[in-house]
Amino acid sequence: MEVADLKILLVDDDTFILKLLTKMLMNQGLKYITACDNGADALDKMNDPVTCPDLILLDLNMPNMDGIEFVRYLVERHYQGSLVLVSGEDERMLKTAEKLVHAHKIPMLGYLHKPVTPDKLIEIINKWTPSPERSQSSATKRIYGADDLQQAITNLELVNYYQPKVAVKTGDVIGVETLVRWQHPTDGLIFPDQFISTAEKHGLINDLTSLVLSQAFSQARIWHEQGYLLRVAINVSMDNLASLNFQDLVVNLAIENGLSPQNIVLEVTESQLMGPDARVPLEVLTRLRLKRFHLSIDDFGTGHSSMAQLRDIPFDELKIDQGFVHRAWADETLRAIYDASLSMAKQLGMEVVAEGVADKQDWNFLRRTGCDYGQGNFISKPILAADFIHWLAEWQDRVNQELLTDSV
Ligand code: C2E
Ligand code: CA
Ligand code: CA
Repeated sequence: MEVADLKILLVDDDTFILKLLTKMLMNQGLKYITACDNGADALDKMNDPVTCPDLILLDLNMPNMDGIEFVRYLVERHYQGSLVLVSGEDERMLKTAEKLVHAHKIPMLGYLHKPVTPDKLIEIINKWTPSPERSQSSATKRIYGADDLQQAITNLELVNYYQPKVAVKTGDVIGVETLVRWQHPTDGLIFPDQFISTAEKHGLINDLTSLVLSQAFSQARIWHEQGYLLRVAINVSMDNLASLNFQDLVVNLAIENGLSPQNIVLEVTESQLMGPDARVPLEVLTRLRLKRFHLSIDDFGTGHSSMAQLRDIPFDELKIDQGFVHRAWADETLRAIYDASLSMAKQLGMEVVAEGVADKQDWNFLRRTGCDYGQGNFISKPILAADFIHWLAEWQDRVNQELLTDSV
């Protein structure tokens, strides 16, 4: 691909800058330019294959969703393109954003300081090179449509994977998080970032969640019957909580499978809780909590209203987002956010799960800092239920041999 064929997304709250950058790029022969004056619109553009960019020019200082939060969303969506950060004078923001971008291996072409000059802009754009691996996966990565997904749900093509959560002090396995995948008849194993947003947008999320729930609960029952008293966590979308029927579904499925509510965890992503009318979700969550189901605030640290949610909803568990866990031992900024999340959760009497524990150094860091539970590829990748017992035996060996010594 030539530079002139690049699809470029500009994200800046200043519409004058948007116009200016667009003009400068067009003068250089670039044709496919999309401009957004806020992060939410930009994320929408990314869902559309026509406007999904190869390169994003991102302003850091924006009201509502700032550039750092936007980068977090890019990571969640496994963004395959490159990034240029555009900033006024806030060096601290720039540094933090740069670290996040690097930690997640998004290729960054550089910074543009405002005011942006045409020379600098072109110099940076010309640094763009296609990475064979990434461009191939971006070509094969598609967001599936509603009809395909509906059929997948009807044909029971969704498969639950389970990722263990373990106690950091003892290595005990306390539970698993259910992560759905789609075993596509021709395309292979498809990850949730390629179909959850479709489900939410096209009213399929309740069907999807019902299927995930019923498979997870019957698996929990099997584990309990085999003597593994695992807590099973499910990811709940905000749209699931928009209806009062959701709690009946959860309660009935728990009863059918003989599960006690304490062994079921509902993980809710905080940024999803910010909808215009939060009353129904609040009511649903509070009633489930009254019945002793466990509530977990997911991806903590990535949204804006984390504190408000902690105030309004009686969560039992807080999951520190993987962006603030992996390599927090090596990075002051990540460490500060990690520490603050941990101590806030403790003060509120919540249990803390650190997500994204990816290596031994992360694991030792959790042990040093007194985090309750860990989850991540270092412990176990998400696995099929059929592989659980085999993994458990291996895990117990690792725990006995090396994971509880205090070598750092
Ligand atoms: P999440 O709830 O934050 O789930 C954790 C994600 O991090 C999973 O990605 C998991 O595979 C990945 N992960 C775990 N350990 C590591 C690690 O050490 N390093 C790295 N880099 N990644 C790690 P996955 O399975 O692709 O799921 C992505 C997201 O999709 C989930 O994020 C969750 O928000 C959503 N999701 C998954 N299943 C469901 C579901 O049944 N319903 C709904 N509504 N959302 C779901
Ligand atoms: Ca989760
Ligand atoms: Ca999470």
